Order: sequence, then C-alpha cells, then structure tokens
Amino acid sequence: MEIKLKNLTKVFPGNPGKNIPDAVAVDSLNVDIRDGELIGLLGPSGCGKSTTLYMIAGLKAPTDGEIWFGDEDVTHLAPEKREIGLVFQNYALYPHMSVYDNVKFPLTNLRIVTSKKDKLLEKDNLLKELLLNEFDSIMDIILSSKFKGKYSKDMSARRIVKKYHVVTTVAEKIFKFGFQNITSNEEVKLAKLKVSINDTQGKINVCKNDEKRSLLEGSLAVMKTELAAMDEKAIKAAVREERLKKRDEVVADLQIEIDKELASLQAKGFAVDEKFFLLKDGQKIPVKKKLDKDERDALIQETARLVQIDEYLTRKPSELSGGQQQRVAIARALVKKPRVLLLDEPLSNLDARLRLQTREEIRRIQQETGITTIFVTHDQEEAMSICDDIVVMKLGVQMQRDHPQAVYNSPNSLFVAKFLGTPPINVFDGHIEDGKVLIGDEVILADKKLKEFNNGHKVFVGIRPEGFLAGSDVPAKEKVLTLDVEQIQTMGRDISLVCNSAHHTDENDIKVIIDSLIKIDLGTNKFGIKKQKTFIFDAEDEKNSRIYLD
Ligand code: ATP
Repeated sequence: MEIKLKNLTKVFPGNPGKNIPDAVAVDSLNVDIRDGELIGLLGPSGCGKSTTLYMIAGLKAPTDGEIWFGDEDVTHLAPEKREIGLVFQNYALYPHMSVYDNVKFPLTNLRIVTSKKDKLLEKDNLLKELLLNEFDSIMDIILSSKFKGKYSKDMSARRIVKKYHVVTTVAEKIFKFGFQNITSNEEVKLAKLKVSINDTQGKINVCKNDEKRSLLEGSLAVMKTELAAMDEKAIKAAVREERLKKRDEVVADLQIEIDKELASLQAKGFAVDEKFFLLKDGQKIPVKKKLDKDERDALIQETARLVQIDEYLTRKPSELSGGQQQRVAIARALVKKPRVLLLDEPLSNLDARLRLQTREEIRRIQQETGITTIFVTHDQEEAMSICDDIVVMKLGVQMQRDHPQAVYNSPNSLFVAKFLGTPPINVFDGHIEDGKVLIGDEVILADKKLKEFNNGHKVFVGIRPEGFLAGSDVPAKEKVLTLDVEQIQTMGRDISLVCNSAHHTDENDIKVIIDSLIKIDLGTNKFGIKKQKTFIFDAEDEKNSRIYLD
C-alpha cells in the first residue's frame, strides 16, 4: 500500500490565559512511502515522530493536511477502518490471556473482504451431490427413530453432519419429498410380523398358565411360518428400487431448480465459477463477512509461524522473554493482514542483544509479508540498519529523506550530520578564505566554488571519525589538521583516537578512527582530511555547502 502524507500538520493548542503557547508537533510534512517499503521516522525526542504515526493510525486528528492510502483519502477515516496494525514499545499484551487468545483478539469482530457466493446454487448443488453419493446414509438418518433434532449415533450419519453441516436442511427437503413414506404393504407386513413374533415370544417367556402358553406357542408357530414364506430380500429390494427412482426424480427436480437459478443470474449479468463464486465481468464480487472459527485459527497459526511464536501459543505472556512478547505484539498487529504496519519504538524495551535480534526479525517479517511499514525510532543505528529509507525529523519538520547510506554520505544539514553515525561526526569552527576552508590557520580543503563566499565567512566543518588520514598518508603541506591525541584505543582492525583541538565545537571528545597498522604517538599529530568524509556547513543556517564542492 502506497502512503502519501501531504502537508500534514498537527498543532496542539496552548492556553493563552496561562501563557502556554501552541505546540506545533508536526509542521507541513510531505512524505511519499512506496508500496512494500520499510521507512524509518527518525529524530530526537519531541521531533513529532509519534504524533505523525498516530495521525497515520487515525488516533490523532491532523490540524491540516491529508493522509492517503493508495487512492483513498483516509485523513478523516476512523482508525478501525484504516486496516492498520500498530505495535507500541510496551507490548500491551493481555496478561491473563494465552498467547493464542492475545493474537486472536483483533480478529474477534473483524469483518474481512471476501467474495460473494451464490448460496442458493451452492446449497442445491450440494444437496444433489449428497443425494447421489450419500443416499443410503441419509436414509439411515431419516429412518432412525432417534433422528429429529438429536442426530443418529450412527457413525456415517455423524460423518455427514460434520462434513456438510446441512443435514437438517437436507433431511427437511427429503421429508418434504416424502421418502419416509416410500414403502410397500409387504414391507409393512414384514415389519409388523417381526414385532408380533418378538412380542409373542416375550409373553411366552413370562406366561405361568400352561393353557394360555400353548395357545401363544400355536400362534407363534403360525407367524414364523408366515415369515418364512415371505421373501424378505425381494421385498427390501423392491422398496429400495422405488426409493432410488424417487431419488432420481428429486435430483432431476433439483437440476431444474439449479438451471433456473443459473439462468436468472445470467439474465442479471452474473456468472458463477465452479466453486459457486459470483462473477461480474469475470471478476469475483467482494463482500465483507465475519471470520468463522476455522478461518480465525488458520490466520492465527499462519501468523504465529511467520513471527515464530507457534511453540508458545498456549503460554501466558509472563512465561515469555521480552523479545518473544514483542513478537506476540507484532503477530497481533499482523494477524488481521493490515494494509500498513506501524511500529512505535518497538525495540526500546529490549536489552541490547534482543534489540539486535528483534530488529533483524522485523526486517525478515516485513520482507516476507511485503507490508508497507513505518518504523518510529530515535536510535539512528536501528533505523539505518533495517530501513529502506529514513526520514530525519527535527521540531516537526522533515530535514532529509533518502536511503540511510545516502543520508549518511551526504547530510544536508549540520543537524542530520550530527544525528547519524557512531561515533558521531566531529565538528570544528572554520572559515573561508580565497576558496579555501580553514580550521584555525590550517587549510583543510580547497575548492574554487567556495570562492563565492566572502573572505572570513564562518562555517562549521564536520569530519566523520573515519575521515582522517594518518602516518605516511598525511600530505606534506596543505590540507592538514593538527590535533592533540590524548588516548589511543586499539580495537582489533582499527585504532580509535581520542583527541582535542582548540577549534572543536562540541562538548564530546574528537574521535578519529584509523587503521590499526598505522603507528601513532600520544601528543600533537598532523592528520590529513578525506574530502568525501568532510562537510562544510554555513554557520548561519547550518546547511551543507557541499553542493558547492566537486
Ligand atoms: P519521543 O521520541 O519522545 O516519543 P516524538 O518525536 O515522538 O518524541 P511527539 O510525541 O510526536 O514526539 O511530540 C512532538 C511534540 O508535540 C513535542 O514537543 C510534545 O511535547 C508535543 N505534544 C505531544 N502531544 C501533545 C499534547 N497532547 N499536547 C501538547 N503538546 C503535545
């Protein structure tokens, strides 16, 4: 789902009476998010990231501007209609519910878009199929004295009940067609004779009067002779033949009904596919419906597998680690198959190891589902490591938006340069003279395009920690900066130097990272400068002047 924020603005009204000014949390934000993109809203506390996310979720109303999901303007749409999944930093799981029920919760009242079926046609076709294939079992159910609401204990009947869920309807129809009356005088006589024989035998067994018993035994013998004379098999076969004849008539009647229904649909411009879905212009007709138990279960199981919590479905949240709980929260947000996934600092409650692991998980899940995702964080490393694009924000305003590496390589302002990178960029006071950038009296860069600045124009010079040359790489004369090396920390592949300079602007130490093979001593050292790792910001507006450089 493509998302567009157009001039999105949120002003929290102040209280003039109490001298509280309006708070502009988000100021004319314009962001286009591509379908399937994972975008990071990144910035320091209070820059308006969460407010932006809540406006997209519909939890906060914009003061101005618009929010579009694809071709749909959702600016004023209720949150539950936006089809979003939201994950907060405190996972907010229900502690008394199992993981399964937590994930199920959003599905309780969910209506999903599905396709419309012709129920009438489906039922009649099903009935026809049932009559043809399960005729004997259905007759067993109907003829069973236990039937009528209770269902037969007979296994095949149960199987039909389970398989088709429509046995009552089927039975009603069959009763209506009068199957239960299809019998012959012979069959009735046979049944009655069997009952009488049973009765008489019972009476004989308890009779204490010899005379009476002898009479009963006489009539029992007559009845048994009569029974022996009857061809039970032939009688049953004749009745069965009658029933099958009737079945075929019913099936033929049903076929007529089915054909009529089909013709009336075609007359209205509909068609029906082999599964009875209604088609208009070759397309299925969408409708909304509530999920049934099986559909809910399938979604829960599928999502649990995706976020790898399928082993824990019966546990309570308290029986899970923080990372697992956060995965349950993500499952809960994803189970509805939302159009957009919104993550509000989802990793901030996790310890360092779990944070790393869970952010990889989020990336995997996002890539597997292809769901457009907005990820709010103040942790630049987190955003840089998993996002396709980042939007760096400051005081409600978008400062820069690009691929993380592009923003790192070309920050458009001092703010962005300082916000991205660990260790952070080193910032020095500098000035321009004759197209050259000087820190103190040392020329560190030259570019003829800088000539358009007046001599003495003040700038900030940002140099990334990895932007220094040391040892034999240092140029002989110009483009050199002198720093006082106070500490040397070897970290395997690299050496990290803690340095000082009279021209450094920050409270933080200057950090220089060089190859560990380079030999360096404590005290005053000269360093070369890598132009690609150095940025010149106008001291007044703090914008990057690099665009002026080659
Ligand atoms: P954090 O990382 O600390 O959550 P954030 O970047 O998400 O910060 P928001 O929570 O969006 O920032 O807040 C943006 C600005 O709006 C802040 O200055 C905040 O004080 C202000 N703000 C937020 N909610 C309100 C409110 N209900 N009333 C007044 N001001 C508010």
